[in-house]
Amino acid sequence: MKKTLIVTLIMMLSFTGLFAGGNKDADVASHDMEGQFGKAKYVLLFIGDGMAMTQINAAEAYLNAQAGTAPGIEKLSFTQLPAQGLTTTFSSNAFITDSAAAGTALACGEKTESGVIAMDASKTVELPTIAEMAKDAGMKVGIVSSVNLDHATPAVFYSHNQSRKNYYEINMELANSDFDYFAGGEVRLSKTPEGQKSAQDVMEERGFTIVSDKAEFLALQASENQVYAYNHGFAFNALDYAMDMDEDDITLAEFTKKGIELLDNEDGFFMMVEGGKIDWACHANDAAASIHNTIAFDKAVQEGIKFYNEHPEDTILIVTGDHETGGLTLGFAGTKYASAFNEISKQTMSWEAFNEYVLDPYKESHDGAGSLADLMPEIEKAFGLTDLNDDEMAMIEAAFARSLNNEVEKASDSQEYLLYGSYEPLTVTLTHIVNQRAGLAWSSYSHTGVPVQTFAVGVGQDMFNGYYDNTDIFKYMKTLMFPETLVAIAK
Ligand SMILES: [Zn+2]
Repeated sequence: MKKTLIVTLIMMLSFTGLFAGGNKDADVASHDMEGQFGKAKYVLLFIGDGMAMTQINAAEAYLNAQAGTAPGIEKLSFTQLPAQGLTTTFSSNAFITDSAAAGTALACGEKTESGVIAMDASKTVELPTIAEMAKDAGMKVGIVSSVNLDHATPAVFYSHNQSRKNYYEINMELANSDFDYFAGGEVRLSKTPEGQKSAQDVMEERGFTIVSDKAEFLALQASENQVYAYNHGFAFNALDYAMDMDEDDITLAEFTKKGIELLDNEDGFFMMVEGGKIDWACHANDAAASIHNTIAFDKAVQEGIKFYNEHPEDTILIVTGDHETGGLTLGFAGTKYASAFNEISKQTMSWEAFNEYVLDPYKESHDGAGSLADLMPEIEKAFGLTDLNDDEMAMIEAAFARSLNNEVEKASDSQEYLLYGSYEPLTVTLTHIVNQRAGLAWSSYSHTGVPVQTFAVGVGQDMFNGYYDNTDIFKYMKTLMFPETLVAIAK
């Protein structure tokens, strides 16, 4: 493409609002598209939910600490991708976004209110999603997540709803969708109203191939049938945390690899893969669960990179986050300048597994009258906590008493909320102690407003360099997927 045409094209794009926001000259300078501006036939969008630089860097520091004691990082695969940017995440009504508004920005290129699924901020206009555009253009489409497929981040690609909480309406939109591949955590069938068809009933009627057994899933072959594949763990029917999985579980990487196999075709595909449980781990302030799930997410990205390496001329692969969760930081007042990331490797199960397998059964069998000494061997096994100092013991004893009396803290009591969020007091105290010993700390049980990192490789990758908004990611994808429509504008 001639330089003059590119300049004309960029001016037209700027004029039409494609690169809306920010300094227009800087947009042009930081997006050197000459020789890169092609058509992306295969689009792989990976979203680490709740994943910003600290989640990424904590995983890299942890991996380095496995190899020795020298300070440093061992890079994940996606942090080595050639194009890298910073991305702002605010919603139309809050600096700190939720997943629905952040997802809508990525899927539809527009800011909306927190809680809204692929509709505008007035909640009256349904916004076309990049996945629907791909389907309309004859591409195959896949949606993959480690949390429930009717959760906000996957939903923004196939559903339009005023509220992310309308799970039944949302999972019925999934069931009635024409997308080719849905895989990950099971939709919330428990939200089906009495006497109504469930989303799974509708999928069966419509001829979906429905699979949840791992061997059956791995044997799936490409066909014309739509696929709904799920693997639910013990909590909320999402996938288990990576650190709690066993060999019967289907991993995010396996769902991704199979998705690529099934979607690969001459007309191209769009696939979104969400690492959703990074966010859930960070809400619960469990750094070990976040780190292991970030590593599991990286393994899913590696499947995408393998595909990119086979089709470098026709593929764009993007990795981003939708927002940061937990206010995680690498440093803690109590440990000053010291870090000890190896402390994390002593934790053998997630907060969720500790509740499910240790604390809840204990509470049920002791009816408020147990003794902390009973649980100390289990606490040592799960969190690797030995040599507890007096301060740590005092915190654990206070939290144990509250958990035993089912005093899960409520947001209305602000001082107690700072200690425990709305989590089991004992469990969140234990993860806090493990994290603090490692030199990691949290500022929130919710999301924060820091920018996320975006990484890319492939056709038009340079667009993803620089500092831009989450809505721009949609615009860059659309530009690469449908360049012919933009050239038509330029003429
Ligand atoms: Zn999110």
